[in-house]
Amino acid sequence: MPNAFWIDSVEKDRVYLSPSEVNHLKVLRARIGELFTGLDGKGNFYRFQLEKLSKRETIGKLLSVEHVSRDMKKLTILVAATKWPRLRLVVEKAVELGIDRIELFNSKHSIAKVSKDKLEKFHSVMREASKQCLNPYLPELQIMGSVDQIALSGSTNLLLDFSGKSLQSFADKIATSRNVRILVGPEGGFSKDELEKFQHFSSAVSLGKRILRVETAVIVSAFFASLQMGRF
Ligand code: SAM
Repeated sequence: MPNAFWIDSVEKDRVYLSPSEVNHLKVLRARIGELFTGLDGKGNFYRFQLEKLSKRETIGKLLSVEHVSRDMKKLTILVAATKWPRLRLVVEKAVELGIDRIELFNSKHSIAKVSKDKLEKFHSVMREASKQCLNPYLPELQIMGSVDQIALSGSTNLLLDFSGKSLQSFADKIATSRNVRILVGPEGGFSKDELEKFQHFSSAVSLGKRILRVETAVIVSAFFASLQMGRF
């Protein structure tokens, strides 16, 4: 069960819960008058008292709001498309790790493609993760068709590649950057053309000799970057 509930809108002293929360609340045997926590993906935690629970409308009486400021620094992951179960994990873990922006693109070696049709599916995973881990912010999500749509200027770009220098050697660079982007290839690795395009704007970074799955590479590198950015 989630640790918080998704708030669709707030009007005066009432919070309106997403219709998808009715089931969760019913499974919890929630009673009218009970206190709960809600969030909206925009940095707000709501404390509310359940007033109405029905399929048509679920409403709470707003007791308090806490706004959490966003970190001035920004951590982005740019991940090549792969099969849904792995991408699902990437998106879920990105929310848990507090990653600010997720960019997905179709690499030449991607075994499955992403498209904007999947946006709602990704958003649903992000909302569930946010309620579970109590991250009040949802990452921005951009789905890009091809590498041509990717712009890497204005950030410290770390391209995960076996030929690179150790991640540890980038600790200071990450710590002093306001904008860090981690580039992760598909299961088949980046293509020659992609490497040529990206290498111009990025530093190659190795995570050691073992070949990590896409989602493991994301978790390990994003955690390290977050540590250097003072987030943990
Ligand atoms: N056969 C592929 C290759 O040789 O590149 C393996 C790809 S790996 C499953 C998926 C992506 O994770 C890689 O493209 C790379 O970006 C990243 N990755 C995985 N393990 C890594 C490591 N030890 N060092 C650097 N990057 C790694």
